[in-house]
Parts: sequence; structure tokens; C-alpha cells
Amino acid sequence: MHQLKRYHFADAETVYGDARYVIFGVPYDGTTSFRPGTRFGPHSIREMSYNFEAYEPQSGIDLSDVPFTDIGDLEPARAPDKVVEQVADLVGVIRGDGKFPIMLGGEHTATVGAVRALSPKCYIVCDAHLDLREELDGTAYSHGCVTRRIIDEGVRDIFIVGARSGSRDEFARAEHLNLFTADDVRRRGIAGVLREITDEIGDDSVYLSIDADAIDCCATPGLGTPEPFGLAPLDIREVVRTLAPHAVGFDYVEVCPVDAGQTAAVAAQVVREFIVLHWMKT
Ligand code: MN
Ligand code: MN
Repeated sequence: MHQLKRYHFADAETVYGDARYVIFGVPYDGTTSFRPGTRFGPHSIREMSYNFEAYEPQSGIDLSDVPFTDIGDLEPARAPDKVVEQVADLVGVIRGDGKFPIMLGGEHTATVGAVRALSPKCYIVCDAHLDLREELDGTAYSHGCVTRRIIDEGVRDIFIVGARSGSRDEFARAEHLNLFTADDVRRRGIAGVLREITDEIGDDSVYLSIDADAIDCCATPGLGTPEPFGLAPLDIREVVRTLAPHAVGFDYVEVCPVDAGQTAAVAAQVVREFIVLHWMKT
């Protein structure tokens, strides 16, 4: 079944039992507030992954030599709190099997489940939005409440990179967190921001989440909630290159493939870099 095989992330040829990294998708956009379609994100990222060579020239590693697998997509429930539970259960199993979870979104809500299962000390997110609302459109598990829920999960240190959108209340709340706005990144450079973050986290465990809209929508317009004046794709690559070795879990979410494929191309390449970097350094 050629069709089914193509639906797996390129070079993910290892059987589950032998894999160190496990990719899965969460095709869910049930709490969409603006443009729907992130449910098609996982498929678009996988499709785009076939565009790239297995060889990674920066590291000298062939991705096809790294033991990783793609178990396909979760069948998401309708209610967002149920999706969070589904993700937490799945990530719990992956972790229990001694493997590293890599999640493709889908809306950001799924991240709450992954963090619940992994209980990291630090949560580092690249996002245009603060995601610090108590609730949005009648649910506490909206894509606009993700970072707030992760605080509720008991994660000690929260780092938000690239934010430029949120309510007055959310920005007041963010004063108690480690916030590096898109303007901060532009002024200081991503390397300076990452130096401060790595000094802060030391050897603590990190969950790294990339919301695709952290990147300026003029560069990657395939987004459910596009925001201009954001990070560059190269900033995100630098975040991943620097923080991958610290991570116990990783996701790339909120790709809404209504563009010419730029957003999925960046996502697929960043996922590939994450796997190679983590494999090399740990
Ligand atoms: Mn988000
Ligand atoms: Mn966002």
C-alpha cells in the first residue's frame, strides 16, 4: 500500500520495538478560534518530509541511520480535555517503553497532554501568543490556554519565546514567567536569548514546543492564527539546535496547510534537525 507508506515521515523506517524516537500526529483543531485546518498539519508535514535528502550535511548523519519510527495519527475525540487525556495516555506508553515522543499538530492543546505525561521541570515554547487565558470560547482546554494549563500541571519554569500577542491580563501574568518577546529576540538576537535560557535551565529536563505561528506569517503563512513581525525560520532552527539535547519531549504544532507548503517545509526540516541533534548529543 504505497499510499499508506507515504503517510509516514520520510526515513522513519525502524520498527517500533527498535526505535529511540516515536513520531505521532494529533489531527485535531476542535477549538479553532480563527481559521480552521490545523487538523491537516500532520499530513502536510509528513508529505513535505519526502522533499529532503536523508543526509544532514551539518551533522554528517543520515537520518535513515537514526532509529526512529512513525506510528501514525491518534484518532482524536471531540472534546479538547479528552484529546489531552488521549495524548497523555499515548505519551505515557511511549515513555514507558523507554522512547522519546515527537508530536505533530494539530492545534496546540495536545501539548498539555504530552507535558502531563512527561512532567518536565521546564517548559520552553516558541509562540506568537502567550496562551495564558483561563478559558476561551467556554473551554479551559482551548489552544489559547495551553501555557496556562501547563502552569497548572505544576511545571516549575516556563519560558516563552517570540510572543507578540495576548490580552492585557495575559501580559500581566507573563511578568511572573520568563518571557522573551519577538521584539526582545530581534533586539538581542536569538543566540543571546538562548544563552540566558540555557544558563537558567542548567541540567533540568525540558519539554520543547514549537507553535508554528512563532514564525512571522509573512515567511510561513500556513497558520490558523497568523501574526506578522515574528521570528525567522532560522531563529527556530537555532532554538532547536541549542535546546534539543536538553529535551525529554518535543512537538511542532499549529501548521495549517493553506499556503504553498512553506510552513510544513520548515516544520518537517526542524523535526529532522531535532532528531539528528538529539541523537548526536545524548
Ligand atoms: Mn500556541
Ligand atoms: Mn500561537
